[in-house]
Amino acid sequence: MALREILKEPNDVLRQKSLPVEIVDEKIRELIDDMLETMYAAPGIGLAAIQVGVPKRVIVMDTSKKEGEKLPMHFVNPEIISKSNSNSIYEEGCLSLPGQFAEIERPAKCKIKFLDYNGNPQEIEAEGMLATCIQHEIDHLEGILFIDYLSKLKKTMIVKKLSKQKKEIERIIV
Ligand code: ZN
Repeated sequence: MALREILKEPNDVLRQKSLPVEIVDEKIRELIDDMLETMYAAPGIGLAAIQVGVPKRVIVMDTSKKEGEKLPMHFVNPEIISKSNSNSIYEEGCLSLPGQFAEIERPAKCKIKFLDYNGNPQEIEAEGMLATCIQHEIDHLEGILFIDYLSKLKKTMIVKKLSKQKKEIERIIV
């Protein structure tokens, strides 16, 4: 296992559409393991492969609330097959948008089909934070970030702030 670098907005790679995984092989399992390690280290509760620069439809999550308890989840080629009409609102953040948060409204429940760690097809019904988190991560596979749901003004302000942060970080490194 190895830590991978998490890409930060603004970065064109984050806007790429990820491609489906053809076979869940050792390479994909290694990617999943690295992504989980990277997510836990950040720390975060969800990560899409594109956030570590790999344009493949792979996401990992852990939405367990108990401290010290690990419930790693992984989804290969996740697809939303149904969504509820009722919505819920959560304040979302993103490892690619450090320090930025916004209230986002999404369907409260959704049904997902995906391939598991061994390449077997699975389905789950998600609600609450899990439903929001899965939808946030699947958005990443389409090149969508949560700030895309905000007004143009708010989005521009956040991207400006992040660009400034990036420059400051680079200045310290150099
Ligand atoms: Zn994110």
